[in-house]
Amino acid sequence: MSSEGPLPGLLLVLSAPSGGGKTTVAHRYRASEPDAVFSVSATTRAPRGSERDGVDYHFVTAERFAEMVAADAFAEWAEVHGRRYGTLRATVDAALRSRHVALFDIDVQGGSQVKAGWPDETATVFILPPSPAELERRLRARSTDSESSVAARLAAARAEAARGLSSYDYVIVNDALEDAVARVAAIALHERSRRAGREAPEAARMATACRRGATKLPAWQP
Ligand code: ADP
Ligand code: 5GP
Repeated sequence: MSSEGPLPGLLLVLSAPSGGGKTTVAHRYRASEPDAVFSVSATTRAPRGSERDGVDYHFVTAERFAEMVAADAFAEWAEVHGRRYGTLRATVDAALRSRHVALFDIDVQGGSQVKAGWPDETATVFILPPSPAELERRLRARSTDSESSVAARLAAARAEAARGLSSYDYVIVNDALEDAVARVAAIALHERSRRAGREAPEAARMATACRRGATKLPAWQP
């Protein structure tokens, strides 16, 4: 069993209902892991708050997005809340070549497509607040969405939760933020070590506790 050399790259998909905390968790994890890089998606929605083009998203027109679809530039793309979002194929290729942990803050449709395209290199992680009521509280506290947008996101959250809970590799409850970040770190280390044939027993134990089905979430049951 080898214990030398760099760990392999990983496509780490982090999905959650909007407001579930995936952006917050991903940034905290990124700050603690030098190998981690963000996948910057393209989107046809407008920037909000302090979002910057090329950093949070590549903000493109609907026409430009359609050209990119035609040029097969996307590893996956989907329509979410009436806007289009897509992961660049070049980002996936570069991450695996450079042995990075690429973080994908994308929805369940997109995460499932990445998993189908790169099954051996992908781990899908679904992040949920402890309850729908807590999700609503966080969406309102973020105060970047209009009232009708909050209502639409809440209505979509239960359906998104049902999809994530039934199909993703791992489920993390984002209650205490630091615990959620520690679980993401353990999953990434476990997945990369496993592929390299190395042992990381503590990470393996924590990751196993996060496997889909191991986490009980009564507040999210339909
Ligand atoms: P998403 O990227 O999934 O839409 P965000 O990361 O923007 O979600 O989080 C939504 C809101 O909830 C933000 O205001 C964020 O600061 C807050 N938040 C995230 N994680 C926690 C947590 N563990 N406890 C309390 N608030 C949180
Ligand atoms: P937001 O508009 O709040 O930034 O994102 C809305 C939703 O789109 C979130 O669920 C987010 O994860 C998802 N999303 C962002 N980028 C992509 C992407 O490239 N592909 C897919 N499939 N979903 C994305």
